[in-house]
Amino acid sequence: MTKGHILVVEDEFDIAKMLDIYFRGQGFTVDVAHKGHDALAATRKQLPNLIILDINLPDMSGYDVCRDLRTTTRTSHIPIIFLTQKDERSDKIAGLELGADDYITKPFDIEELKLRVQNAILAAGRQKNVHPITNLPTGGPIEEHLRTLMRDTRHWTYIDVKIQEFETFSEVYGWSAGDEVLRFMALLIGDAIDKYGTPDDYSGHPGRDNFVVITHSNEVDDLIEMMTSRFLDDIQQHYSFIDRERGYMLVQSGGEELRVPLMSLAIGHVSTRTHRFSDIREITEVAAENRRRGDSSESSNSDDILTAW
Ligand code: CA
Repeated sequence: MTKGHILVVEDEFDIAKMLDIYFRGQGFTVDVAHKGHDALAATRKQLPNLIILDINLPDMSGYDVCRDLRTTTRTSHIPIIFLTQKDERSDKIAGLELGADDYITKPFDIEELKLRVQNAILAAGRQKNVHPITNLPTGGPIEEHLRTLMRDTRHWTYIDVKIQEFETFSEVYGWSAGDEVLRFMALLIGDAIDKYGTPDDYSGHPGRDNFVVITHSNEVDDLIEMMTSRFLDDIQQHYSFIDRERGYMLVQSGGEELRVPLMSLAIGHVSTRTHRFSDIREITEVAAENRRRGDSSESSNSDDILTAW
């Protein structure tokens, strides 16, 4: 289990390399981006636990990277530590005003940076309730986001996603394989929002096999279709050759052998285009009910699989 996933954004090769080696040695997972645009692209693929962000980058300033991350709903909660030049007080103030969580001046003491990184990750976990595997917001912040949306005049759609047969898969293949599936799901949601969503879209991870997407998109059907069909394609890779070939798992239960289908997505959604909600509970209840009924026309793929066994 890694201590967290850090994205280092630094164009000075030696510093980037040093941070990469050091934090890997400390048990973190590290990605390095040498340009601002690469950093933004990387965060859209996978949410890191923390970003170490140099202010002077070749293609755009660290401030602009920070501003983009903070104004994109999905990345707005990621802690950021700025790397600033020595004695540039205005740098620090500008960074903190933009919502950076901390800053450290070059040349820096690596031990001090490590402490700040650990503190920022811990603080984010405490305050903002993110899921430890996917770094997606959990129940509390999702409710908070829905509360602000109740006052939003734009239309939005709440999508409830459940990975069917996830628990059985985790039991058979182990929790680590299960965690891989959750990371894959978070990545898939990010890709779908990138393709069909808007910068204000939101995703959350309220329960182990349960995810949430809240989108302002007009292409909700396409977004759901992309998640459903790509999940069916890519989930195959998480199974052994034998299970993949026969299309189900064999599980012993009470002396009997059960055929358990491969994982698929069950999806339900509700939209302000068709519903008026009086409170938050109603939104999540209606969406979950639609999901259980298989109301989302796009979830027909998974229904086929369920009836097939
Ligand atoms: Ca630099």
